[in-house]
Amino acid sequence: MQPVNQTDPYISIVIPVHNEQENLEELYTRLTQALDQLKKPYEIILTNDGSTDKTPEILQALHARRPHQIRVIEFNGNFGQHMAIMAGFERVRGQIIITMDADLQNPPEEIGKLVAAMEAGHDVVNTHRLNRQDSLWRLKVSKWHNKLREWMMPKLKMEDEGCMLRAYHRRIVDLMASTEESTTFIPALALTYAANPTEVGVAHAERSAGTSSYNLYKLIRYNFDLVTGFSVFPLQMFTMMGVLISMLSFGFVIFLLLRRLIMGPEVEGVFTLFAVAFFLIGIVLFGLGMVGEYIGRIYQEVRKRPRFVIRRILEANQAQTLNGERLVNQSAGNAHDVQANEITP
Ligand code: UDP
Ligand code: MG
Repeated sequence: MQPVNQTDPYISIVIPVHNEQENLEELYTRLTQALDQLKKPYEIILTNDGSTDKTPEILQALHARRPHQIRVIEFNGNFGQHMAIMAGFERVRGQIIITMDADLQNPPEEIGKLVAAMEAGHDVVNTHRLNRQDSLWRLKVSKWHNKLREWMMPKLKMEDEGCMLRAYHRRIVDLMASTEESTTFIPALALTYAANPTEVGVAHAERSAGTSSYNLYKLIRYNFDLVTGFSVFPLQMFTMMGVLISMLSFGFVIFLLLRRLIMGPEVEGVFTLFAVAFFLIGIVLFGLGMVGEYIGRIYQEVRKRPRFVIRRILEANQAQTLNGERLVNQSAGNAHDVQANEITP
């Protein structure tokens, strides 16, 4: 893996950004320093995922500082972290693509480690966080979820799915960008395409400033994306549970029938019956919800709405006309290169 020529970037860094005004300056300084030290041509693609603070202005200023190295994609609204990365993936020019968070929880100084692992011949470099610095409840939720994922999806071999500082070969990124899914989980998607993945430990820091965009509800929704996107295990679990409960109920009915014949009519045990009924109703509702999670996503996919909408792109070269060009993305292959600072409606 060597650069095609000196002007082509060799490393592409893709960063989703949502309300990170306090972190961007430090991110810029530390990231460019770490990358300059590697002495390889690189580019940084930052996607503004519908920020409502000063993030857009700061990103524009960063682009102005290094117009040939820093590109900015601006979404029309908030489409989620993974879609923000996907938009970057569709436009990368490097051979080694690295994703990371904008809040400096993933230290840019660790990038060299990932590049070395890629150069050793791996096509995906997974990571786990050493000394993870997050709130206690996040650590607990993560631990529990990682265990559940291992149990439900044993084929996804990764220790820590939540760490976004990862490296992918361009081949894998192109494959990911060509899938048209509107809900996805990038580290898991990469593993389904990887031929020779590896895993390294990377440092982890506390959020530099600002607050996490994820509360418990968002975290649960996000994890449903992972589970439903890469496994039908929950559906199979309900089928198996249904079979088991049907068998038990059959035995129970026979028992009640015999009891009725031997002992005559009786009204005791009504509350036990209620308890059993409520338990079963609970399971049925949960199962229905689970099926709904899949159907909702099928519905989302069949409508074929754009999975994200780009308002404008700031990049320095390879300008093309904007007039009449759609900046709505549905699939890979329709990347647009837009003149710096031009604005679409
Ligand atoms: N992010 C995003 N869109 C969102 C939520 C988050 O682009 O809707 C970005 C955010 O700016 C950060 C990364 O995704 O760069 C991880 O988000 P955050 O730090 O809030 O998550 P946590 O570290 O708490 O899991
Ligand atoms: Mg974070």
